[in-house]
Amino acid sequence: MKPLGPIPLGFGALGGELAIGGRRASEWVEQAGGTPLFVYSAEMIRRRVADLRAAMPDRLLVHYAVKANPYAPLLELMRTLVDGFDIASQGELELALAAGQDPAAISFAGPGKRDDEIEQAVRHGVTLNLESTGEARRALAIGDRLGIAPRLAVRVNPSFELRGSGMKMGGGARPFGIDEAQVPGLAREVIAAGAVWRGLHIFAGSQALGAEAVAETQGNVLDLAARLTREIGAPLPHLNMGGGFGIPYFHGDEPLDIALVGARLAARFAELPAELEGTTLAIELGRYLVGEAGVYLTRIVDRKESHGQVFLVTDGGLHHQLAASGNFGTVVRRNYPVAIASRFRAEPTEEASIVGCLCTPLDRLADIAHLPRAEAGDLVAVFCAGAYGASASPSAFLGHGPAREMLV
Ligand SMILES: *Cc1c(COP(=O)(O)O)cnc(C)c1O
Repeated sequence: MKPLGPIPLGFGALGGELAIGGRRASEWVEQAGGTPLFVYSAEMIRRRVADLRAAMPDRLLVHYAVKANPYAPLLELMRTLVDGFDIASQGELELALAAGQDPAAISFAGPGKRDDEIEQAVRHGVTLNLESTGEARRALAIGDRLGIAPRLAVRVNPSFELRGSGMKMGGGARPFGIDEAQVPGLAREVIAAGAVWRGLHIFAGSQALGAEAVAETQGNVLDLAARLTREIGAPLPHLNMGGGFGIPYFHGDEPLDIALVGARLAARFAELPAELEGTTLAIELGRYLVGEAGVYLTRIVDRKESHGQVFLVTDGGLHHQLAASGNFGTVVRRNYPVAIASRFRAEPTEEASIVGCLCTPLDRLADIAHLPRAEAGDLVAVFCAGAYGASASPSAFLGHGPAREMLV
């Protein structure tokens, strides 16, 4: 038997079934027209943002990283809850604008920005977080050609990383951002060329659950931003401090202690270096805001046994929920939080593996898990599906098509 990850708080049961947003999972499936289906709870997202804001210093702005979940109705909700969007492509720019986000509250990071993407960003007045010297020069040339002063910030490749983070985005040779030592020279160059100077972006990693590590990184980010600002010699309008707040996916994971992170940040804000006194300060979060609010529902179409092991075969799989199959940035496959949604309150009585409908051994949603006995027709819930689910999975693979999505 292999343990399942922890089911996020906030889900209850109705009539023995998993309840999401006060209604049974099967009702949402019926309303959506079938499975597979992602259900995102607006109420859980609202609560998450409110709890986060209560824990953080008032001065801290909260931005949403659109890549975590770009579903249009969810973006419209996020626009009303956060202070800005961080995007990473022209497609995300279009989604952000369609959701009604003010272009002045959008920043565009990401390596490999094409000229046409830069042009769209400049035309709309979106801030470009520059990832290289070459990109800076292209942005300035495009601004000149359009007769628009581009809004430019520099993404820094910090010399430190976020300890314990699932995905490291700083500390050493990286394709992201500009090495610390080159930042002051480049910033002075874009300011001298007449760009609107928007400041610095320092993102050191993702999916961290250790509050001490997050607090330490935030301290390092503030110190680095102050030092670079001194070297640049111009006031720093905005500092995107990165994020990296993780959520528990696996057995034994403990939630991030945001009270501790907030207290440590408040202490740092109370004695900010003079260089940062007039700076707006933001964090950018994706999965922490929306990950636990999403559930992927898929229906069991077959129950079979092989060499004494039970397999529950579903109509979904890794083409919608790649991360739960263990094939999205994990080294060792471990079980996500998964349950039989239609028997949510039943006691586990057997060991079974839940697999998807794809013809590949990679397509496993739960491996040798302790579950209530389930049959064809039962609904399976994969939790922590609100981020890096539908849009981060290869939905064209094997031709089953995309999953349905709904915000409730
Ligand atoms: C992916 C990414 C994020 C969001 O990461 P989460 O782990 O979902 O919070 C934020 N900022 C940048 C620059 C990113 O690349």
